[in-house]
Amino acid sequence: MKKLTIALVAHDRRKADMVEWACHNAEYLSRHRLVCTGTTGGLIARTFESKDVHVDIICMHSGPLGGDAEIAAMVVRKEVDLAIFLIDDLNPQPHEADIQMLLRQCRVHNIPIACNRYSADLMITSALWEDETYVPCLPQYIPYDRN
Ligand code: PGA
Repeated sequence: MKKLTIALVAHDRRKADMVEWACHNAEYLSRHRLVCTGTTGGLIARTFESKDVHVDIICMHSGPLGGDAEIAAMVVRKEVDLAIFLIDDLNPQPHEADIQMLLRQCRVHNIPIACNRYSADLMITSALWEDETYVPCLPQYIPYDRN
């Protein structure tokens, strides 16, 4: 199975949900590389450690201090295969601009992004990851591509 780089980001009121989801999928996640915003990653790393699950995890800055922006830059560089982003839709965030940037760059660069657990479950169980004949259809930005 191809080792994917999976971005995991959760806002404060969604962190419990993220940790529970990660524990539920610990065996799957331990086979891939995780890149997380600081606090989300720290929580997942400590939880996995307490359960003796080895995980390859990189923690960026905390979200409000630029972690979402760092992950967005990785998306632009094609260093992320899949993003799970549990957004708190009921409370304003100080780094709304960075949140929108991460979402936008995933759309622009055709990176699958799940914003709820159901979508995350569907994405990590997709057979397309292993289908070598499947080529993702890229969005067409020809008039804007000046390279
Ligand atoms: P955090 O960042 O994991 O450092 O809390 C998440 C976010 O708010 O984007």
